[in-house]
Amino acid sequence: MDAGSVVWPRKKTRQIMVGDVPVGGGAPITVQSMTITKTADHEATLEQIYALAAAGADIVRCTCNEPEAAVGLARIVPRSPVPIVADIHHQYRRALEALEAGVHCLRLNPGNIRKPEHIKAVAREAKDRNVPIRIGVNGGSLDPALYKKYGGRVTPEAMVESALQEIAFFQEVDFDLIKISVKASNVPLMIEAYRQLSEVVDYPLHLGVTEAGPPPGGILKATAGIATLLAEGIGDTIRYSLSSDPVDEARLGRQLLEAYGLRERKNVDLIACPSCGRAEIDVYKIANEAQDAFADKKIPLQVAVMGCVVNGPGEARGADIGIAAGNKRGHLFVRGTNVAVVPESEMVAALVEWAEFISRNGIEAAMERAEKSAPAARRAAAEDRDRNLGEKGEDANNTEQVVSLIRKI
Ligand code: SF4
Repeated sequence: MDAGSVVWPRKKTRQIMVGDVPVGGGAPITVQSMTITKTADHEATLEQIYALAAAGADIVRCTCNEPEAAVGLARIVPRSPVPIVADIHHQYRRALEALEAGVHCLRLNPGNIRKPEHIKAVAREAKDRNVPIRIGVNGGSLDPALYKKYGGRVTPEAMVESALQEIAFFQEVDFDLIKISVKASNVPLMIEAYRQLSEVVDYPLHLGVTEAGPPPGGILKATAGIATLLAEGIGDTIRYSLSSDPVDEARLGRQLLEAYGLRERKNVDLIACPSCGRAEIDVYKIANEAQDAFADKKIPLQVAVMGCVVNGPGEARGADIGIAAGNKRGHLFVRGTNVAVVPESEMVAALVEWAEFISRNGIEAAMERAEKSAPAARRAAAEDRDRNLGEKGEDANNTEQVVSLIRKI
């Protein structure tokens, strides 16, 4: 069953425009990331923004932490391929400068810009320019008064109250181009804060697990938080906050949305069997080679790598194209039907060649192309299947070696 056959109802939110990108109100869920360059270095920052956009970011945030950063933003905004959000902490004047620089959105942290007159001054200026603001509540920098009120603990209720207080200031100046985040590094806390917030507001929500850390643990935490909420229909835009190259953040965000069927697939979705005692090839090696070979191809197909012909094609029946190993050969299949046999050493090259053919000409043309060789391919697959079922075959997983290594440890 592919993700396209399952549709989760999404919570209805208002829509705002971040530059030309709609957020909320049923718009496609967007991916965000943040540059790690000095914003004042506008050339280096633009280079990173282009890399993030290429990896799947729809919106990019840059810090505006000093007057020079605002000068950089004025140069970045007109040349950026995606809308730019200015990230503001502590100094409301940076927000005014960023608006003057032409940014498409602001992010304010209510935990560290607390004077109502400052918040309202920024909201008035944003309103005049029709620029939205994200209220970015962060569990690590909660307003000290709220922290105290909730018994010296960061709770979902405290985070929601922080967001509601900020909204109230904005409402006083009739500003409602708002999106909100209530991020925390603690996953259950973050999930519960967003759940509670989504019950009381209909502004679009920006999801994230803040300071999730380096991969792979950081990916796991960010995915646990973001994916849980998305499956509940909560969330309009997402960001992975990882201690690694921000290009990874953009790529992962995009992959999560594609895996959930929430964004149209742009890249290969590689599925591979977990290998087992029946495997006739080193599945991990071939799968990794295939992953590298397809990395920049932008072919929206599902590609399968399977360790044997016993279950391989059947297990990957939903894939557009795949390869299953048998008797040291690769059995190529399209939508579960054997169409060609290739030597093991050419398995990845054959996958790429056929995927590119399908991408250019369509599945039907690929089936036509395979028509002549299909009967022979099916016979070969059947032979290898019988052989595979009848014999133990070579141990492609190097089990003896692995077991002896484990015993030594
Ligand atoms: S496809 Fe074959 S090798 Fe891979 S897990 Fe299934 S039975 Fe094992």
